Amino acid sequence: MPAQVIADKLSTGLLPRQDATKIFAGHGTDTPCAGCGLTIRATDVEYELLFADERSFLFHSTCAELWRTLKEVSAGGEWRVTCSCRERIGYAATLAEAEALELEHIAVRKNSTRPRHVITIARK
Ligand SMILES: [Zn+2]
Ligand SMILES: [Zn+2]
Repeated sequence: MPAQVIADKLSTGLLPRQDATKIFAGHGTDTPCAGCGLTIRATDVEYELLFADERSFLFHSTCAELWRTLKEVSAGGEWRVTCSCRERIGYAATLAEAEALELEHIAVRKNSTRPRHVITIARK
């Protein structure tokens, strides 16, 4: 569950909350993602985020996007889950619930005419 992992890393300070000063995108180099911890493979898009304090982090593009969303919010509260297919998926009390909704949405519509579902989880 990458969103939960990234939220935890934000709350413990392992990942920064400030904005990156520079972002580079490229192909993965078999390096672990600073977000989800899984390897960023050559077939994945890798984002390198540089910070003013000279820290730098490598992320999957999706994990960089999650980080960007999650750093804006604090723990708790309601999460709104929406999809690029314009269907509003619903609300969740916790991030884990929001992720469950997301997976369910993708599973149900896997064979639909819209193959791509880019899901956004945001604070209401
Ligand atoms: Zn990742
Ligand atoms: Zn969708």
